[in-house]
Amino acid sequence: YGNQSLVVVANRLPVDRCEGSWSPSPGGLVSAVAPMVKESRGAWIGWCGTSDEEFEPFEFDGMHLVPIALGSDEYDKYYEGFSNATLWPLYHDLVVPPQFHRSWWKTYLSTNARFAQAAVDAAAHEATIWIHDFHLQLVPEMIRAQRPDVRIGFFNHIPFPSESIFAQLPWRDSILRGLLGADVIGFQLDSDVENFRSAVSRFLGISSEELPNTVRAYPISIDADAIHRVAEAEETQHRARQMREELDDPRCLIVGVDRLDYTKGILHRLRAYHELLEDGVLDPQETTFVQVAVPSREGLESYQDLRDEVEQLVGNINGSFGAMDRAAVHYFHHSYSFESTVALYLAADVLLVTSLRDGMNLVAKEYVAARHDSGALVLSEFAGAAAELDEALLVNPHDIAGLKDAIRLGAEMPPAEAQRRMASMAEVVDGHDIHRWARAFLDDLRPMPPTRAPTT
Ligand code: UDP
Repeated sequence: YGNQSLVVVANRLPVDRCEGSWSPSPGGLVSAVAPMVKESRGAWIGWCGTSDEEFEPFEFDGMHLVPIALGSDEYDKYYEGFSNATLWPLYHDLVVPPQFHRSWWKTYLSTNARFAQAAVDAAAHEATIWIHDFHLQLVPEMIRAQRPDVRIGFFNHIPFPSESIFAQLPWRDSILRGLLGADVIGFQLDSDVENFRSAVSRFLGISSEELPNTVRAYPISIDADAIHRVAEAEETQHRARQMREELDDPRCLIVGVDRLDYTKGILHRLRAYHELLEDGVLDPQETTFVQVAVPSREGLESYQDLRDEVEQLVGNINGSFGAMDRAAVHYFHHSYSFESTVALYLAADVLLVTSLRDGMNLVAKEYVAARHDSGALVLSEFAGAAAELDEALLVNPHDIAGLKDAIRLGAEMPPAEAQRRMASMAEVVDGHDIHRWARAFLDDLRPMPPTRAPTT
């Protein structure tokens, strides 16, 4: 046995390698789970983010980190291939066609086995092991085969597709058996739980009542306190005012913040905005649209094609509605720091989240936490966050007329209504932050302490 009582297994380590040293990587999952790993002096197993470079396990900020090196073949087939070009589009309802290749699957199997072995080696007797996300769905069963003593949890951060879509996967039975190695299997929404249960019933012939596992929804959230701290800082508020001034203080500033991913519906929102300008409903003299599109998965053709299409459409809109001294769309193909992203939330009048499919969408929750009592949120009903944020202007992004109506309503929303809707959503987000999410999952996963016999 190893000597770690809590072991987290994720595709990525909670640190990045830059210029020869390690620095913490930002993000909600790291800020929620890292404190728990530190508290239990636990371990985190994951890829270090670079290709063909090997690193020994090391201590970092109270955590034992175990880097998994991916060779270039593993990077191509396990990561870019099976994870990002097979599972990602399949689990996001076929927004683009998934590709099925037997060699990718083989490498997914062998890479999952390497993560599993690292967890087996690190875990102490009766340890708790928490596995994250779709890259590692075979790991629970692989650990279970060697270690009947440990408690295993698995959380899927992305949607779980309906049984009829999941049916396309040639290796569907193996994936389900892989997941069933876990004691607790967590998903974002009740609908994901239902999809998983019906897939297990149809493909493995196991009914829900027969499953010994806990299968439950744990909707993920954000570090609301961290957002409040940054949003309340004078520096951030100054930066937000500056952003608006730099944009020539538009009457209405519409904002989108996304990874440049085909699941986010960026083209749909640009088309709707374009038509609103063409119809004369929005005046380009008074309205500005800022789209942050964080570079993502640039090695894949579908992402390169999306980038071309988005940039062409932005060019079209600016060609028709821009002027010497102002653009109709400001498009940024790079990422912003957490602080600048929050400043942009504060500067926005309307935030657009138009995902075609999204496990949760943290940007929507961050906007709500940053604003608290102002600003309008247009939110796709296909984002997991819509289940909780029902005071947003909910839209079907495929319905361009409906999307246009929602953007117009957002742009014209009276402050009292914005205040009422946002305050109600902020209550939901503040009450269910990321720390509560992590505790709920681990409380279900860790065995209850033995109840003491009553003293007489
Ligand atoms: N984000 C960021 N910098 C940027 C744009 C986004 O740090 O320039 C962060 C954003 O604050 C959020 C995350 O990236 O925490 C995106 O999470 P989300 O669930 O919305 O989408 P995902 O990219 O995970 O599909």
